[in-house]
Amino acid sequence: MITKIYNIKQIITYDKVKNDVICEEPHNILIKDDLIHSINYSETDIIADIEIDAEDNILTPGFIDSHTHLIFSSNRSNDFSKRISGQTYLDIAKSGGGIKSSIKNLRESTKEELVNKCDKEIKHFIKNGTTTIEAKSGYGLTIKDEIKSLEVIKELNLLSDIDIVPTFMGAHDFPSNIKNKESYIDLICNEMIPEISNLNLAEFCDVFCEKGYFNCDQTREIALAANSSGLLMKLHADEFEDSGAAYLAGEINAISADHLMKSNKVGIENMAKNNVIATLLPGTTLFLGMNTYANGRSMIDIGCNIAIASDYNPGSSTIYSMPLIMALASLYCGITIKESFIAATFNAAKAINRSNSIGLLNEGYKADILVWDINNLNEIPYWFNSDRIKSVLKNGKLIFKNNIH
Ligand SMILES: [Zn+2]
Repeated sequence: MITKIYNIKQIITYDKVKNDVICEEPHNILIKDDLIHSINYSETDIIADIEIDAEDNILTPGFIDSHTHLIFSSNRSNDFSKRISGQTYLDIAKSGGGIKSSIKNLRESTKEELVNKCDKEIKHFIKNGTTTIEAKSGYGLTIKDEIKSLEVIKELNLLSDIDIVPTFMGAHDFPSNIKNKESYIDLICNEMIPEISNLNLAEFCDVFCEKGYFNCDQTREIALAANSSGLLMKLHADEFEDSGAAYLAGEINAISADHLMKSNKVGIENMAKNNVIATLLPGTTLFLGMNTYANGRSMIDIGCNIAIASDYNPGSSTIYSMPLIMALASLYCGITIKESFIAATFNAAKAINRSNSIGLLNEGYKADILVWDINNLNEIPYWFNSDRIKSVLKNGKLIFKNNIH
């Protein structure tokens, strides 16, 4: 199958060789099956099966949302309302809300119910220009319910037009009915990880490394088990307090460490030294009504590669729009619009170990392409509702068209 895109105003993409965002004006792009075969080809004898008129619009790579908790059962708008009326997280938890309610609801849901519900959510991501989503388990916290969540991701990946990348996050919280914390670490290391790895249900393992949740020693133990089962590590690091998690991410060679609002400089330096991607999640800070945004500027200055993501989850971020996340990262985390664009495309691909196939408009890369009714890169975060996206292509196939345009 050969698809030709013509009448292109400009393409905007990160360029690895120039280490910069480039704007070019090719006459056309040729897609062979699911890959970008050539940009600005000149052969006259190629007959395309499908021709797409870009109508003098700008093309970019599809967004990659490298951190979501997509697999949950019911929303927590009641908690949101309670928080606005002044209740603390602890008050909400005591009255049966918070993460415990998400765990209860997920355990009570069937696989089919979860697949149907999450498939609808994915359509919202697509409308906002996201063509690859990382999704975590972590609201099950029993071997049965964690496997159920990861099987849901597997089914969604087959069902949906876009790619859903699976992460096991049994270490999201401690279940309430366990004997002691160490027994749950043992369950994760000796039963959950080997079983999930045998079933080939996850690529990454994530841990909530934070005071009151999983400490550095427990995280190290889980990382050892994950690595020996072939899972790459990710960390929720230093969101509320400096727990030394950023430093640990470097020590255990995590692929990314995410949040990083309270991390210390030595920790960030150790991440830079060990090529750990620093993922900023400014949507969470906004949604929680806080002002503790991560300092992306100093992380870049120290030498880290920055990714940005939505942290989509029922308790602390219901944002699907990567343009909004770009706007928040530039407004509050001190990074430029160019840097936020790289963070939502190429660096996000690095954070999920796919930088050889997605995140760029480049020959040989997947034809995951957004068509924009804009005049330049600045307009992407400027119109942060994502409504300037005219159409979305995934693997060379048109999967969304905005009827307003
Ligand atoms: Zn998260």
